[in-house]
Amino acid sequence: MAELFGPTLQGEGPSTGQRAVFVRLSGCNLDCRWCDTPYTWDWTRFDQAAESREMSVEAVSSWVLSHDADLVVITGGEPLIQHRRLLPLVMALHTAGCRVEIETNGTVDPGSAFTAYARLNVSPKLAGSGIPADRRIRPDVLRALCDSGVAIFKFVISEPSDIAELVELQRQLDLSPVWVMPQGTDHQTVLAGIGTLVGPALQHGWNLSSRLHVSLWGDERGR
Ligand code: SF4
Repeated sequence: MAELFGPTLQGEGPSTGQRAVFVRLSGCNLDCRWCDTPYTWDWTRFDQAAESREMSVEAVSSWVLSHDADLVVITGGEPLIQHRRLLPLVMALHTAGCRVEIETNGTVDPGSAFTAYARLNVSPKLAGSGIPADRRIRPDVLRALCDSGVAIFKFVISEPSDIAELVELQRQLDLSPVWVMPQGTDHQTVLAGIGTLVGPALQHGWNLSSRLHVSLWGDERGR
């Protein structure tokens, strides 16, 4: 566990602007060069003992339910690297009446375990992340997530070539629905990035997402 925070606003994707609490888990299987949460996984730069702690399902669930949350966003890091331990928490929150969204980079297939309990916000990483394609794009996993019926796909566009890569990826895997959003850790960068994405979004039938939390709070933690 990295941090629990909220209520705040979901900052990106189809639930943008909705009041939510966040459960941020530690650990990631990728190392994107523009990652905005390196304190969840980069133990060369951050102290794991200070940044990560174990918490029981009961303790996390109790914290969430004490914050009057309709929407719970489970994020990371990469939450699905611990999907077996995550399932009881998601089931408990769902049973308590919460809507649950799980943010994932699309490299881990959790099977059908979550389909009755959560939406999966799948954010595969494009070449601008600096990661070799065979580490960040797992076609078999993306097809399985697409077939789950509970996945949406959102892509951070950090350089122009990311657009061409996304067009080809969508052609190959028929990913849908798709949101695109700009990379950036301050409002001006996000605003400029959104401007460059309007044309491609309209041309290719993608939804356009801002990064509301960045516009409001920059890269402040706990937002
Ligand atoms: S997948 Fe997400 S958490 Fe992991 S390194 Fe990339 S941006 Fe950061």
